Amino acid sequence: MKFLILFGPPGAGKGTVARKIERAISIATGDLFRDHLKRNSELGQKARAFMDDGKLVPDDITIAMLKERLEQPDCQQAELIILDGFPRTKPQAEAFLESFPEAEILTIYLSVKDDVIVNRLIGRWTCPKCKRTYNTNLHAAIIKGGNCVTEKCETPLERRPDDESEETIRTRLKVYHRETKPVLGFLREKKLTIKRVMGNKPPETVLKNVKKALG
Ligand code: AMP
Repeated sequence: MKFLILFGPPGAGKGTVARKIERAISIATGDLFRDHLKRNSELGQKARAFMDDGKLVPDDITIAMLKERLEQPDCQQAELIILDGFPRTKPQAEAFLESFPEAEILTIYLSVKDDVIVNRLIGRWTCPKCKRTYNTNLHAAIIKGGNCVTEKCETPLERRPDDESEETIRTRLKVYHRETKPVLGFLREKKLTIKRVMGNKPPETVLKNVKKALG
């Protein structure tokens, strides 16, 4: 199997990039959790409090959820699987590498400074259906209408609860620096290829550089 780990802080643009890479299946653990929340599944009920506080959902729950997703037939046949938001801790990375010892894995690290992220997330609106995100700075005219403009979508945009308060955003960033960023060092120790792309550029430039890094 072939994986692309899109690594980076919340709001780095991982989802935006993932959606634009052709012939790949993109799996965002945050989206999987949000689907569980919507369905009010048992897993969703367990994850809710952590997500609302901007904290990480415990590793055992996260790893089991991702494994189940990866066992589905579309993943078994995929040319490339993009992981957006996983691994976020060292135990997650360990479990992943143990499960796929033969996999070809490339990590692209989207690097963005904290203050840029706070601005982006405070202004972020998300389409709950197609998952496209909009930003009040970049897409003011579009957001005025309040609906997703992606072809045939037109779903009312929503603000993610964890994007609503600066305090929760700052907590997510703290968690990223404390628990997630060190995963890069772990992946490097495991001799995985890591390529850094500056994520503070316009979305089309970031996408072009990610595609270049993908080769
Ligand atoms: P995201 O959509 O990637 O920003 O994730 C939203 C929230 O889902 C995070 O703040 C965590 O509470 C939870 N989450 C997503 N991915 C993971 C993960 N790999 N490990 C633990 N929690 C996660």
